[in-house]
Amino acid sequence: MPAPTPLIAGNWKMNGLASSLDEAKAVAAGVGESPARVAICPPSILVYRMSEALAGTSVLVGGQDAHAEDSGAFTGDVSAQMLADAGAKLVIVGHSERRDAYRESDELVARKAQAAQRYGLEPIVCVGETLEQRKAGQALDVVTGQVRGSLPAELKGRPFAVAYEPVWAIGTGLTPTTPEIEEVHVAIRETLKSLFGTSAHSVPILYGGSVKPANAAEILHAREVGGALVGGASLKAADFLAIVRAV
Ligand code: PEP
Repeated sequence: MPAPTPLIAGNWKMNGLASSLDEAKAVAAGVGESPARVAICPPSILVYRMSEALAGTSVLVGGQDAHAEDSGAFTGDVSAQMLADAGAKLVIVGHSERRDAYRESDELVARKAQAAQRYGLEPIVCVGETLEQRKAGQALDVVTGQVRGSLPAELKGRPFAVAYEPVWAIGTGLTPTTPEIEEVHVAIRETLKSLFGTSAHSVPILYGGSVKPANAAEILHAREVGGALVGGASLKAADFLAIVRAV
């Protein structure tokens, strides 16, 4: 089975205006011959314009969330079908900010991943423990439980990624030690193998949580780390490109 192609995905969260498309264009201009796939996930209102702006470049555009249904009376929501129609190729689902603020369950995240897969979007399925859970020695159980609950069987043999994002490391400047990251990534790989058999080998397992140019090389070369989901440091092309170059 081939090793996963690394994926570096930027999550702009609720940041960015039309003028920010210049940052995305600067990423595309600077990315060069990277061994990694590179993606930017802007707010949904910018997906179409960013897809147009990056057409013909190697940088992919993704959504940050998708409703589990294709259409209907869901005021304010955006479906996977709409994101694909706007030019997205990937979509983040199950980000801890959504699991927390919108009480998203594993079961709902799995339905969102299913919707993504229906429209040819590659889901990046996020999992991660809280600080309390880590302190209680529950990190591996929580994360592997989320992996089991959030990945629908339909993903077998299809492109998708898992992002391990410890909740306490997101936007805090804190990161787990490299052995701690490796322990969780190895456990995720074993869980993926038990769910999907040999096709699990080609699934990239991203690390996310305070990745920046200064720590990217060490994290990206850790065992079973197949890329990064980058929040704050993806907003500036120079920082994001430095992370891409650390692969
Ligand atoms: C994220 O929100 O997915 C994330 C990893 O954020 P940050 O890099 O800012 O910690």
